[in-house]
Amino acid sequence: MKKAGCHSVGIVGSGIQGVCIGLQLIKKGIPVTLFDRHDPLSNNFKPASYGNAGHFSPYAVLQFNRPDILNDVPKMLLSSYGPLALKWNYIPKMFKWFYHYLKNCNQKSMMHTAKYMHQILSLSNDAYEEIFQEIDTNGLVDKKGIIYVWTNKNLESRKLEIRVRDELGIEQKLLTQKEVLELEPNLNPAFDAGVFYKDAMHAKDPYGILREIFKLFLNKGGKFIKSNITNIQQTNINQTIIKSQNKEYKFEKTVIASGAFSKKLTDQLGENIPLDTERGYHVHFKNKEHLISRPVIFLDRGFGMTPMNQGLRAVGTVELGGLDNPISKKRIDYVVKCAKELLPQLEDHDDEWLGFRPTLPDFLPILGPSLKNKNIIYAFGHQHLGWTLGAITGKIISKIVAGEKTNLDLTPYSSKRFN
Ligand SMILES: Cc1cc2nc3c(=O)[nH]c(=O)nc-3n(C[C@H](O)[C@H](O)[C@H](O)COP(=O)(O)OP(=O)(O)OC[C@H]3O[C@@H](n4cnc5c(N)ncnc54)[C@H](O)[C@@H]3O)c2cc1C
Repeated sequence: MKKAGCHSVGIVGSGIQGVCIGLQLIKKGIPVTLFDRHDPLSNNFKPASYGNAGHFSPYAVLQFNRPDILNDVPKMLLSSYGPLALKWNYIPKMFKWFYHYLKNCNQKSMMHTAKYMHQILSLSNDAYEEIFQEIDTNGLVDKKGIIYVWTNKNLESRKLEIRVRDELGIEQKLLTQKEVLELEPNLNPAFDAGVFYKDAMHAKDPYGILREIFKLFLNKGGKFIKSNITNIQQTNINQTIIKSQNKEYKFEKTVIASGAFSKKLTDQLGENIPLDTERGYHVHFKNKEHLISRPVIFLDRGFGMTPMNQGLRAVGTVELGGLDNPISKKRIDYVVKCAKELLPQLEDHDDEWLGFRPTLPDFLPILGPSLKNKNIIYAFGHQHLGWTLGAITGKIISKIVAGEKTNLDLTPYSSKRFN
């Protein structure tokens, strides 16, 4: 059954945004083709949606456009063993991003981002629960909450985070060091206190979940084409064209859900959106996942550990360095060192992975039509929270495509804010 709102859609990107959007559209009876340069069912499919920390974090409303974090940036950058690193060859390419970041690094913008992250984050777990009714999540999801720990060094920042979450009505329980250790007895007490988000869940295998959603999409009639997309155009009011090196495909509407790579396509549409990437890393400590029961994040270090089916996944750091710089051995060493600080019993690690968080300088995603081409719809820029936001993004974008109401204020997510 075809829906009158739209007769065909192409989606570029089969990360968590792309597959969730595809699934919701196909459920509305709209024919969909997903494109990705890697097949989600193949071994070389390793985008951000594959290697993330697996947190479903509906509470994580505060982002990095915060005056307190800005104050700490020079100190963090000068330390070769800090949570933030910069590839110096990339600085000139980030000027526009930094310019907008500075503009958004104040109390008012911080609260604006928190409010509109909260608007979508508060719907995120329910949106996943709907999808989980339709796929086999056995062994893929755990519901034991998430713990953050910290030292007494940056208490003002910790108080700010707790206060803003309290103001937004987010449930959280402050923990003493002793209470953290009661929940996670194997941790080395290198921290002073923490907080527990008891309703948070985590993926034991993010890629396993994505694959199940992708298979459901195919089973419901969705199509997939493995192709590297080089260009997108809107040719007339009812036609968009998705082009690869040697082929072109026509759809009534096209969705760009290409994560950190989306800018390569939006630049060609004449919109200079300051999307960039925060590079992040993971390693696995095989057969050590039993050492903790739930994700533990060490805020001072900008790193965390998640018990997963592949082992204990140690994940973290933010490296500003674009999409083309090679993997940084120092960042891997940093993640490994942080993991051993909390769990000294860890030994060898495997699977060094680099992933690209797609980040806009005000830390809100872009969800909505292109300014110049109304039939090209954007769904990218989910930064540290794109895993959490996959299912709700699917619902929102599918409604935009089908011309349905969302009952949400979508203005803050428009690309217009950067023009
Ligand atoms: C280290 C790390 C830890 C993280 N931890 C968490 C977490 O715990 N919780 C959370 O909520 N979020 C987390 N995130 C963020 C989250 O993983 C991302 O925001 C999210 O996966 C982005 O999804 P996406 O679908 O937009 O992009 P991606 O997953 O990057 O997918 C984009 C896809 O588009 C394809 N593509 C791009 N360009 C083209 C093209 N031209 N032609 C064809 N295909 C193309 C790519 O091949 C890719 O498959 C983490 C990220 C990192 C890096």
